[in-house]
Amino acid sequence: GQGLMAGKRGLILGVANNRSIAYGIAKSCVDHGAEIALTYQGEAFKKRVEPLAAELGAFVAGHCDVTDPASLDEVFANVASHWGKLDFLVHAIAFSDKDELTGRYVETTRDNFLRTMDISVYSFTTIAKRAEALMTNGGSLLTLTYYGAEKVMPHYNVMGVAKAALEASVRYLAVDLGAKKIRVNAISAGPIKTLAASGIGDFRYILKWNEYNSPLKQTVTQEEVGDSGVYFLSDLSRGVTGEVHHVDSGYHVVGMKAVDAPDI
Ligand code: NAD
Repeated sequence: GQGLMAGKRGLILGVANNRSIAYGIAKSCVDHGAEIALTYQGEAFKKRVEPLAAELGAFVAGHCDVTDPASLDEVFANVASHWGKLDFLVHAIAFSDKDELTGRYVETTRDNFLRTMDISVYSFTTIAKRAEALMTNGGSLLTLTYYGAEKVMPHYNVMGVAKAALEASVRYLAVDLGAKKIRVNAISAGPIKTLAASGIGDFRYILKWNEYNSPLKQTVTQEEVGDSGVYFLSDLSRGVTGEVHHVDSGYHVVGMKAVDAPDI
């Protein structure tokens, strides 16, 4: 095959529908010659993911709920028996109770704190360990984070705390897995309207704010994040690990609202 991703096989976790960031990354990987596997979270998403897998020529590795280790065992066993090895993995999974993605962070409950950290942070670590066993020729792991890890963003709350922990995990995993030539990076994506994002309070306002105040004066698309993903998942970034890379139209460099930004 030809392309930046030719000969590479990767497992992409977190496709819910065709608006998912994971779908944008999957599409870019396939366009550049990769072979991919997808998973779905329960029967409700199965019927959405199967046609997308068919469209992308992807292998469906089964049901994946990161709170259920048996489902992860099965997904990785399926990948092992189908391919025998793995070159790249994308983790595009996060969850927090919608009721706590609004209002004050200080109100976070213990149950939701632990669940948010389990699904959005620990899952990447346990998945990295499972991927390590299959990445016998080195590899590339990529996760998705958000600027709310670095600065306080309205309504992001416990998810911002979780993303800060996820970004720290990227650095620790990069050191642990580096000796095996497995690289670990994150893309910090600007806001994109997806199923998960619809749970965040005032999300339309946040999209507009980013559009008006980012250097590129636009929000990013799944396709833009997908193409940046190819850089991390291909050998182009072979000298890069432990990095958190912003794909946000440059929003993170801005210190103040643009003086000519319209009212929202
Ligand atoms: P999405 O709703 O399309 O994807 C979220 C995915 O998480 C879904 O596929 C869902 O099945 C999966 N998931 C949730 N709980 C799970 C569990 N217990 N087990 C397995 N899978 C589970 O939304 P998205 O915006 O594409 O989110 C993908 C990633 O991108 C998330 O980490 C999110 O925080 C991150 N991100 C999103 C934005 C944005 O504005 N949309 C910005 C920056 C980062």
